[in-house]
Amino acid sequence: MSQDLDSLYQEIILDHYKNPLNAGLREPYEAEVHHVNPTCGDEITLRVHLSGPGDDAVVEDVSYAAEGCSISQASASVMTELIIGKPLRQALSVHGDFQALMQGRGTVEPDEDVLEDGIAFAGVAKFPARVKCALLSWMAWKDATSRVLGEAATSGSAGTESKEQS
Ligand code: ZN
Repeated sequence: MSQDLDSLYQEIILDHYKNPLNAGLREPYEAEVHHVNPTCGDEITLRVHLSGPGDDAVVEDVSYAAEGCSISQASASVMTELIIGKPLRQALSVHGDFQALMQGRGTVEPDEDVLEDGIAFAGVAKFPARVKCALLSWMAWKDATSRVLGEAATSGSAGTESKEQS
């Protein structure tokens, strides 16, 4: 990765950190979760508001209160920008792409059409200690969504813990 690209990515992350999109907890919501990344001390409380039944569900809103490092907070901002207003199925697909990017140890080429500002985290994927920071909000969203849908919380949120809401 070139130096220029690296600094561009850092700038995108810093922008979201300074001016987080969709921050704050809002109503209505069907599920709220609290996830912690103990290795860094990042925390997020996240609410999900879905509309429509099952496969036709739409992500109406995702609101959150995040504390912690710039990567974890910027990631929450980028995520909400990417998934609010999208059909749930599409949002889950974006989630899968972001997770693949972050777990690719720097070998996955991000698709800017899908991940938009999320590509800025491609550089973070090379640092295993920071991957959990970047994934914290995404895991929280997946967990909250699973709760809305009445499914058991999915695994794969290793390193984060959540408190029961229902
Ligand atoms: Zn962190």
